[in-house]
Amino acid sequence: WKNAPPHMGALVALSRTHGERLATIYEDERVTYEAQFRAIAALAEVYRAHGVKKGDRVALAMRNLPEWPVAFFAATVIGAIAVPLNAWWSGDELAYGLNDSGARLLVCDAERWDRIVPHLSELPDLAQVLVSRATAPLSPPATRLEDAIGIPNDWHTLPDRALPDAGLLPDDDATILYTSGTTGKPKGALGTHRNFMTNIMSTGFSGARMLLRRGDPIPAPQPRVGLTVIPLFHATALSAGLMGAMAAGHTSIYMRKFEALRAFEIIEREKVNSTGGVPTIAWQLLEHPDRHKYDLSSLEAVGYGGAPSAPELVRKIAGEMKAIPTNGWGMTETTATVTTHGAEDYIHRPESCGPPVAVADLKIMDADGTTELPVGEVGELWARGPMIVKGYWNKPEATAATFVDGWVRTGDLARLDEEGFCFILDRAKDMIIRGGENIYSTEIENVLYDHPAVTDCALIGLPHRILGEEPAAVVHLGPGASATEAELQAWVRARLAAFKVPVAIRFVPETLPRNANGKILKRDLKGLFEDRAAA
Ligand code: ATP
Ligand code: MG
Repeated sequence: WKNAPPHMGALVALSRTHGERLATIYEDERVTYEAQFRAIAALAEVYRAHGVKKGDRVALAMRNLPEWPVAFFAATVIGAIAVPLNAWWSGDELAYGLNDSGARLLVCDAERWDRIVPHLSELPDLAQVLVSRATAPLSPPATRLEDAIGIPNDWHTLPDRALPDAGLLPDDDATILYTSGTTGKPKGALGTHRNFMTNIMSTGFSGARMLLRRGDPIPAPQPRVGLTVIPLFHATALSAGLMGAMAAGHTSIYMRKFEALRAFEIIEREKVNSTGGVPTIAWQLLEHPDRHKYDLSSLEAVGYGGAPSAPELVRKIAGEMKAIPTNGWGMTETTATVTTHGAEDYIHRPESCGPPVAVADLKIMDADGTTELPVGEVGELWARGPMIVKGYWNKPEATAATFVDGWVRTGDLARLDEEGFCFILDRAKDMIIRGGENIYSTEIENVLYDHPAVTDCALIGLPHRILGEEPAAVVHLGPGASATEAELQAWVRARLAAFKVPVAIRFVPETLPRNANGKILKRDLKGLFEDRAAA
């Protein structure tokens, strides 16, 4: 680490080497790296003028906008802890995040501000709010971001100034990122500058490897364009997406709202090279009936992580979209990426999420967490490396239970093969035990995905008096496709052991409900089976 950049200020300063390139495109707004740098330096001064000191929390609550990275890096370069809040959250949930983190200053967009106003009296720590893109008049403690530093109205007349020297060290705190809340209330993961810098380097390196196919020429350096359709407040888009793009001088395009047709238009017009984020986005691009009407030939890679993905998706991205599929496994607690997978490696092992990046270790432990299991056996995945966060903010008990001797207990059930490739089978909390037999969701979901009529599905457990639990499935069929419960049960029975066949299947007219990070909310699906007589 001696000669490596010690903290995120170095990443921000590095972006000046490609200052003339476009950092961000949002609708008809275009922001160069130079303008972004100047705005970060200006906003850092404003934070300081409002009394923000090292270790203070600066929260962010906005959709993906060009000012998002500015608000984020202006905090981290002065040693404040940036706290990106989930923009999908309600007023109550935003108030929870602000209070839990004890944020002193908030930067938000007008929509989030409207949600927070009714909660102001519950937020004693919050002294100042900068609101971006407000059209209505604001009242204290809020002022307009435009009045503070000019953006987003005027990016290109900002004066040049140096970044402040905050005397930061690699292990200083940088962020509190909230987990997705798939299994409970979101927990704040306290990440350091080293965690992020590690991720930039390891994903940059393995990113190059992931995209390399046999016989490919070494790619010539050229500005690359990525379409970012997942939210920046989550570790994946922030750490692997935005920061990786900044380090390499790539352009990130943000969308107001993801829609496949709009994405096709942008890919064609801006010659986008990569997109994706989570599997459901990849499916929506792939399955859209009008995909062929657009010139998507610039698209080289469609990547995702964050949720289980079916082998069917890998084959279709490579076969039908002629793009390189990539996958990565990680958690908020690991600052995004721990495994990466792509191109031929992935096409040949489509059930895997890849091997660990060079600076990470994986092991499989028994349920008690006392014994390491041999290659091939299924148990809880543990991960270690310089991307693992320090712990949970303000949650000593959860921290002690999850972070053990430098390892993070992931709560995911997985196996490793002889070559070190990792296979995620389920979350421990979602695994179904039917009369002593373990049923892993992904195994049945992948078989259902293979059925030509199925485009979205989830396996869940229903309570059973004697067996404990039994499997049931919720399925969404593609446009114009048809299948019955009995047909799909027969399809699974022909391919898997009888105890794995869903005892009931419910069809839903829309794709399944997901949270902001593309994860199916399995808890919310159980209600679909209420009409079934209790077993
Ligand atoms: P919470 O911890 O609040 O319940 P969460 O676990 O969904 O929410 P995240 O940190 O966003 O919060 O997600 C990490 C989880 O996402 C992993 O533990 C794993 O279950 C899942 N995941 C991530 N990447 C992959 C992948 N490539 N394949 C399968 N599952 C993945
Ligand atoms: Mg989790």
